[in-house]
Amino acid sequence: MSVRVRFAPSPTGYLHVGGLRTALYNYLFARHHGGKCILRIEDTDRTRFVENAQENLISSLSWAGIEFDESPDKGGDFGPYIQSERFDLYRKYAQELIENGNAYYAFDTAEELDAMRERQQKAGVAPKYDRSVMRNQYTLGPEETENLFKANAPFVVRLKVPLTGEIRFSDIIRGEVVVNGRDVDDQILLKSDGFPTYHLANVVDDHLMQISHVIRGEEWLPSTPKHVLLYDAFGWERPKFAHLPLLLNKDKTKLSKRQGSVAVEDYAGKGYFKEAFVNFIALLGWNPTADREIFSMQELIEFFSLEKVNKAGAVFDTQKLDWMNSQYLRALDLNDLAVRFKPLADEAGFSGFDNDYLAKVIGLLRERVNLLIEIPVFGNYMFEKPKEYDEAYVLKHWKDTTLELVKPLVELFKNAPNFEHQTTHDITMAYVESQGLKLKDVIHPLRLMITGKSVGAGMFETMEVLGKDECIERFNIFIDKKEKGEI
Ligand code: GLU
Repeated sequence: MSVRVRFAPSPTGYLHVGGLRTALYNYLFARHHGGKCILRIEDTDRTRFVENAQENLISSLSWAGIEFDESPDKGGDFGPYIQSERFDLYRKYAQELIENGNAYYAFDTAEELDAMRERQQKAGVAPKYDRSVMRNQYTLGPEETENLFKANAPFVVRLKVPLTGEIRFSDIIRGEVVVNGRDVDDQILLKSDGFPTYHLANVVDDHLMQISHVIRGEEWLPSTPKHVLLYDAFGWERPKFAHLPLLLNKDKTKLSKRQGSVAVEDYAGKGYFKEAFVNFIALLGWNPTADREIFSMQELIEFFSLEKVNKAGAVFDTQKLDWMNSQYLRALDLNDLAVRFKPLADEAGFSGFDNDYLAKVIGLLRERVNLLIEIPVFGNYMFEKPKEYDEAYVLKHWKDTTLELVKPLVELFKNAPNFEHQTTHDITMAYVESQGLKLKDVIHPLRLMITGKSVGAGMFETMEVLGKDECIERFNIFIDKKEKGEI
């Protein structure tokens, strides 16, 4: 059987990180098996329509590098499949189920349903449509049903769930799942506005689109017994199911907006590399080997297997995401990073630096930050002269004797044959030794004069990237201010 999988989001307005994980696993599974992965927009709930939701979804998916087959931008004839364009089809299949006795018409009003639930609640039983007493084609009989139709009475179509017996299906991740028919509601398939529910549209489409594996989040597990009944009712072969573990907050509660961003676009906006983000998402509930965490998309495809996906919920740990990003920041090619960094530098107001210089700055600072976007803040002094000098640092490291100590050193720097870090290091070393001092006695003052800050990369490396003229200028500015008592 050839592998065909789908990602079937409802357009809520943004791509949820859990949705990205589902999309990614579908994509990895399809590519691993040389199969197809399609995108289907499940927009049957028209009351939840959100402007541009579909565009947002697609743009987040393509940012993450997930490609779909049978999509228009690949020049195909169809897709992404959009359920709201297929309503007639679902009505036709609902009709088929009525005809073969697996679904029925029900005419209950909202008030009647409320009263039923209230009765059940009082009696201490779980709320469930009670086919034997409510107003449906069985209790009303054919004549009354026909009359209601003629009178254009609103109706829904419900699935006729067997009242006894077990509903079984196997899940690749969870094994055998068994539920009692008694606990499954007579699910609405077609709503009174004629639109299908998620259940009907989802099953009809998975069948028509020849989906071999339904890979989706654990929150859909309670729907699967109903879907299984639908497949059986239509006489269709069931796909294989795999329900992915929940994503959790750090405190092990279900991942929620209240504890942090859940929209993929937020993470893109915060400056995470798509490679790092995808790598991080891929390991939420799955890891091919215990001894490794960094995988390219190609490697994820190569190693992916549903059998290795865990049942237990996976913690969405943003600290790990930061770490993951830092690993990519250290490993990616500097010229590539410079290209990615350019718009961030522009946005921070540091325009006009060429990519060569940006690459050097990134090379200098990338061990000290997790995200490229932090560089203009952490290392602002690589793009502008210090506007202020860290007061505590001045107090701690600038002694009465320091000015007279650094002035001759600045003179020596002026005459340096070049500004490579080894050269300035050696000059400084020889100078401090001649004064009977240690390197650290001048390193802090140098850092202060050049950067204004107490932390940064290696001092001589920083000076090398800034260059001789810039450094000498900064020394002079500081010395001048110090002499005038402005610092
Ligand atoms: N439309 C459902 C969602 O929003 C799809 C569930 C499924 O994959 O069957 O996640």
